[in-house]
Amino acid sequence: MQRLDWPALDVAAREAALQRPVQAVAGRTRDTVAAIIDEVRSRGDEALREISARLDGVAPDAFEVAEAEYEAAAASLSPALRSAIVDAAERIERFHRAGMVQPYSVETAPGVVCERMVRAIARVGLYVPAGSAPLPSTALMLGVPARLAGCRERVLCTPPRRDGSADPAVLFAAQLTGVHRVFKLGGAQAIAAMAFGTASVPRCDKLFGPGNSYVTEAKQQVAQGGSAAIDMPAGPSEVLVIADAGADAAFVAADLLSQAEHGPDSQVLLLSDSDALLDAVQGELAIQLAALPRADIARQALAGSRLVRVEALGDAFDISNAYAPEHLILALREPRAWLDRVDAAGSVFLGDFTPEALGDYCSGTNHVLPTNGAARACSGVSVASFQNFVSVQAASAAGIAGIGACAVTLAEAEGLEAHASAVRLRMGRAGSAQEAA
Ligand code: NAD
Repeated sequence: MQRLDWPALDVAAREAALQRPVQAVAGRTRDTVAAIIDEVRSRGDEALREISARLDGVAPDAFEVAEAEYEAAAASLSPALRSAIVDAAERIERFHRAGMVQPYSVETAPGVVCERMVRAIARVGLYVPAGSAPLPSTALMLGVPARLAGCRERVLCTPPRRDGSADPAVLFAAQLTGVHRVFKLGGAQAIAAMAFGTASVPRCDKLFGPGNSYVTEAKQQVAQGGSAAIDMPAGPSEVLVIADAGADAAFVAADLLSQAEHGPDSQVLLLSDSDALLDAVQGELAIQLAALPRADIARQALAGSRLVRVEALGDAFDISNAYAPEHLILALREPRAWLDRVDAAGSVFLGDFTPEALGDYCSGTNHVLPTNGAARACSGVSVASFQNFVSVQAASAAGIAGIGACAVTLAEAEGLEAHASAVRLRMGRAGSAQEAA
């Protein structure tokens, strides 16, 4: 991991220090993804079969998971894993239910009532990564809020394994959350299939979920083309840790590695005002890395990651807000006291006993979070992500008599005479109705 001394860096070096590794390969990824999307749009299932064979080494006869596969999947899991999935799902539901947006109604003027209705998005497509590690937890993070929102058709895609099956834990989690149909499809081809629809895969109105840079790029391309809406750009994972001198170096190193093992393009940053802590974490990283089964992946991610010494902890918050990390861990003695300094982050973890891994799985918050700086303007997945909010207004005769002049003045100022006339006509009628009454 590169070690940097923030006060010694000039503006260009500071900008370079906060570059995500994924940005370097964006051009190549864009072209690859555009070609895959084109193929799926024009040739549907046939293209899906060819691309799956090329990229995932298998082209299943049927993409959709059959009833018997769900039963076999559930039976193949250990009771401990089944109960952990159920347990996590309950906590995720508790947190997400509490945050559900309620409809409301306000009388904004006498006789003028404005409302907001909440409606579920009808057909949603959930993507659950399984390229380097199957993520049943992602099936929960998407499936639970989609069910709470009441989406009528909930479709899920996850990459096939080499033997053509889907990961059993992903299937169990999908079924538990009431997903209606699961397809064994991965990468950009899965996103294209859900955006355009094929003979096998239904077209979805909005696509959700994290994934590698191909998946994220595909979501962005189909959204730009107007084919489907997307939740957010949730790409390669990242964590930024702000640690003080009192932080536990072993805990900090473990958190950095838990992010680094996601993928070679994951990024981890540690900011601290303590040289001693940075030294200790560097030592711990070497020890813990050696014992990790996914050490190779983590090592590649660490190569694009940084340990940064800052002059004061306040500077670390300025850097963090500029970077807008997906995950922000505050390994500080009084983490809550610093919370007001956080302006942009996907999810925040307070103190020594809240590792990011808790939020990844089972604290109850959502782990589908904005990456690549999108946390400056986007939030993580919630029930609201699966809903539309429809505004309604109703004016009585007295209502338009009261506020009509306001509309007429604004319409005339904008030069939109038909608008003004639509209001004036009614104001005249409303006036006579009131006189008659
Ligand atoms: P994945 O399911 O996202 O991608 C696997 C698919 O990528 C394969 O099915 C294949 O079709 C496609 N692919 C692989 N190589 C390709 C190539 N050369 N060209 C075109 N397509 C190719 O699984 P993954 O790769 O393990 O990635 C999961 C990602 O999700 C990680 O980067 C992880 O950091 C991220 N993640 C993010 C969040 C979040 O909330 N942001 C949460 C969990 C995971």
